[in-house]
Amino acid sequence: MASVPRPMRLPPGMSLDQFSRFVTRAHDICGAENVRIIEKSDPLHDGSYMDPCKGHDMHAVLEKDYFVASAVIFPREVPEVQALMRLCNEFEVPVWPYSIGRNTGYGGAAPRVPGSIAMDLGVHMNKILDVNVDDATALVEPGVTFMGLHQYLEKHKLRDRVWLDVPDLGGGSIIGNAVERGVGYTPYGDHWMMHCGLEVVLPSGELIRTGMGAMPDSDDPSIQRMRPDQQPPNRAWQLFNYGFGPYNDGIFTQSSLGIVVKMGIWLMPNPGGYQAYMITLPSDAALSAALDLTKPLRVGMVLQNVPTFRHILLDAAVYGPKSTYSDSDKPLTEDDLDAIAKKLDLGRWNFYGAVYGPEPVRSVLLSVIKDSYLSIPGTRFYLPEDRNEPRSVLKTRSNTLQGIPSLDELRWVDWLPNGAHLFFSPIAKISGADAMAQYDITAARCREAGLDFIGTFVVGMREMHHIVCIVFNREDPSSRKRAHWLIRTLVDDCAKRGWGEYRTHLALMDQIAGTYNFNDNAQMKLNETIKNALDPKGVLAPGKNGIWPKSYNKADWAISVDGEVKGAKGNESKL
Ligand code: ADP
Repeated sequence: MASVPRPMRLPPGMSLDQFSRFVTRAHDICGAENVRIIEKSDPLHDGSYMDPCKGHDMHAVLEKDYFVASAVIFPREVPEVQALMRLCNEFEVPVWPYSIGRNTGYGGAAPRVPGSIAMDLGVHMNKILDVNVDDATALVEPGVTFMGLHQYLEKHKLRDRVWLDVPDLGGGSIIGNAVERGVGYTPYGDHWMMHCGLEVVLPSGELIRTGMGAMPDSDDPSIQRMRPDQQPPNRAWQLFNYGFGPYNDGIFTQSSLGIVVKMGIWLMPNPGGYQAYMITLPSDAALSAALDLTKPLRVGMVLQNVPTFRHILLDAAVYGPKSTYSDSDKPLTEDDLDAIAKKLDLGRWNFYGAVYGPEPVRSVLLSVIKDSYLSIPGTRFYLPEDRNEPRSVLKTRSNTLQGIPSLDELRWVDWLPNGAHLFFSPIAKISGADAMAQYDITAARCREAGLDFIGTFVVGMREMHHIVCIVFNREDPSSRKRAHWLIRTLVDDCAKRGWGEYRTHLALMDQIAGTYNFNDNAQMKLNETIKNALDPKGVLAPGKNGIWPKSYNKADWAISVDGEVKGAKGNESKL
């Protein structure tokens, strides 16, 4: 057996010898060139958004070498994913699958359990398997990014037929984003709602197709003889989500129950016309009034897309770092915010929306929108051509809101030197009073932590995702600790008021899962029951979203308030 270098972190309870045997077997499955060990001497370079690190979190809020994988494996096709799952069961090794590993603000490529095997699906499994413009559907593998599918539509001149909805940054995986229930900004902004059909490797290694995919497309025996992942899919797989019997797809989101290796996604028919706009709101009071107007307009679909109400500092940070506005290392004051809004000719809050459809449709909708919001004193209305500054956020949003991906929103992370970020993402009612209550609490806690409030309200079908972008200096331990304190405190503050987060970073998963505790944690008991049934050895993503299999003692993996981690204990190797 070839000797294997010692990894920075061994999988929990595993000796170097056992690890070497596991790695040798993994070589047999995927080829030695597709197994990379994160060695003890690895400098853990963060890389960049375009070239992200693969075994740790590039925005680490704890010590960088805590949430770190022992090795990264790059399977080439579905049978290899299945074989790896069987191998992980045999060795009882935790494995953390991801599609691209960007997952920025939520943990990047890092696993919840240090020493897990990272399974990077995106490097080889990156094919666009189908684009059907008549049905407006696509079928993709994990490595297909928003940028990649958009470029495909452009290259094949299909954008005059169909658009793709994209999130703020285009480099993420369509599957990774949808299974984490991420959002974009066109009328198809709820990516999970717009998915249709999954192919999933279960923790046992078995392969399933959900919805209509569970039915073969014909009884032709030659199909039955094909490798399951290569069998032609049922013709309605991407057309009807539910199939027959219990609807299972939801259990594969934010989950540790399966590895998604194919997913259908609905594309948006080109609406035949489009117009983005911005409405600036001069004050917090104007934001509150605007959100009250928003509910009936959004529910009634006058607001057709997912509009956003962005705090001035989110836009200001896209225009330049904090140092371009202030010498202070303290949180900016109300006066500072007013001065920045004035300098940038923006509101204290800025509302970005769009109308879709042929000209008469757009013009009716726009007139209703203008009549509504411009009734609030001090609001101003802009079209993209009205804004000629070089880094106009409206111009970027004008692309994003029609499904053209960009990387411009990366800039706000550089608000501080060595900028990194965490997202705090509670759900809010679409109401001025609720939004202001959440804003007041989060902004006050940001000040207490010595950090600036940077955030946005993203308006869904009936609620808002309030996304607070906690920017910190990753090279400054005090800044990291304050960011960690801030998000932990906010989770508790919000839970007391019945506000829960829709998604979170690895370090907060247990805490947030604990806040969804109706009726003596009945939902967690159900989750654990399903987890233990499907994954009896607890090898697939243990700890993901706070769900620990029975083979783990959750307390051993707890992360304390001051960022100390007990979990290192569980990682001692038995040499
Ligand atoms: P991004 O698309 O932003 O790069 P990732 O690929 O890092 O996102 O995925 C984010 C998270 O979603 C992962 O940490 C993992 O928990 C989950 N995930 C991503 N892809 C898959 C997949 N194909 N199957 C199961 N879970 C996945």
